[in-house]
Amino acid sequence: MSAAAEADARALAVFDVDGVLADVSHRLHHLEARPQRWERFFQTADRDPLLDEGASRLRAALREHDVVYLTGRPERTRRLTERWLARHGLPTGPLLMRDDDDHRPARWVKREVLRMLSAEREIASVIDDDPAVVAVLEADGWPVELATWLPHSSTLASAQERQGRT
Ligand SMILES: [Mg+2]
Repeated sequence: MSAAAEADARALAVFDVDGVLADVSHRLHHLEARPQRWERFFQTADRDPLLDEGASRLRAALREHDVVYLTGRPERTRRLTERWLARHGLPTGPLLMRDDDDHRPARWVKREVLRMLSAEREIASVIDDDPAVVAVLEADGWPVELATWLPHSSTLASAQERQGRT
């Protein structure tokens, strides 16, 4: 097997971004406001502190696997997110994002993407901080872990569950 083919055969470690790598706490107030300030919520993501536990999990995963980010953030935040990853010394992709007009709950979007990914590559692990996402992915048979180093916020849960916005 060529080196390139071997590299292609590495299994995937799938990482969520918000709540796993990025500390979203400082911008949740934009969603608690009425009306909610969705664009401010996304635009201020470039100031998210890095979550050390998530970052060290990611660096450990990179030794054996290829890392793929699977985030509910919309496509329009791609450049901001890539810059943020680069600034923290993390790989900038592949970065799988939600279509700007896709407002389905994150768990269905992520399940669909994982099913697609697994047609090409083995899925070694999935880490997500949203219990609703983890429950659905677990039921679908994926090796998923609930990230608990940043308590999952009820504000974000409502945003993801009822509004399908992130
Ligand atoms: Mg998350």
